[in-house]
Amino acid sequence: MMQAARSLADVISSMLDRMPTDTNKPAVVSTTFTPRFAECRAHGRWPENMLDANGVERWVPMCPQCRKEQQVRQLLAGADIPARFSGCSFDNYRADSEGQKKALAQCRFYASNFRQYRATGTGLILRGNPGTGKNHLITAIAAELMRDGYSVLRMKAQDYLDAYWSTEFSDRGNWLRRIAEIDLLILDELGRNAQTKGAEDAFFRLLDARYETVRPTAILSNLDKDGFPAALGEAAYDRLKQGDGKLINFSWDSYRGQKPEGSAA
Ligand SMILES: [Zn+2]
Repeated sequence: MMQAARSLADVISSMLDRMPTDTNKPAVVSTTFTPRFAECRAHGRWPENMLDANGVERWVPMCPQCRKEQQVRQLLAGADIPARFSGCSFDNYRADSEGQKKALAQCRFYASNFRQYRATGTGLILRGNPGTGKNHLITAIAAELMRDGYSVLRMKAQDYLDAYWSTEFSDRGNWLRRIAEIDLLILDELGRNAQTKGAEDAFFRLLDARYETVRPTAILSNLDKDGFPAALGEAAYDRLKQGDGKLINFSWDSYRGQKPEGSAA
């Protein structure tokens, strides 16, 4: 048991090691320049070479759009976003009701204004019943931020607690400092199971570390407005409020419980 928890801490450490880095290829100097093009079956014609600002010829190894999509898939895997969510975007989020349209608009707005929220440490709380699309929208946010070059890490609340407790007491400060450097940390599935003094301390140390570095945290939970602060603990909840987190309510029924389209409601 201890072994499994220990390896979870290692998994998170190795995810931290794999955070995005600059991948610019070394330059090739060229005296003559002939533009060349290639054809992508999905995205059409793309330039294989170009001159940069210094007049240096740069070769493009693959269709830029395909490359972007491949990078986002790799980044989503590195950020521990489950494969079943990797196709989730703002464009394929089903928004029928006013509430769903509002949640979509708020999440889209958060992603496109992240630069500002990142500067103020402004996080997000996505609260609502299971199956209402919280994971879909947080994945869409994560994908957009990673495309823009930000680092994102998603952890289930229980996985965080297991990793925290299995990290040597003397290593915890360092471990938390590394997590505190990630641009957006997503804490998923915050539930009642965590409600102990030890869990409250662990959440407080996490949110306090991120408060110190002014980094935003997003928390997903199906608890109601009283259950949510109770599960996090008062001190940790205070830290979250000091970061002026935005609350988005997913207050409709589960998609999975909805009647098929066209049936009498
Ligand atoms: Zn392509």
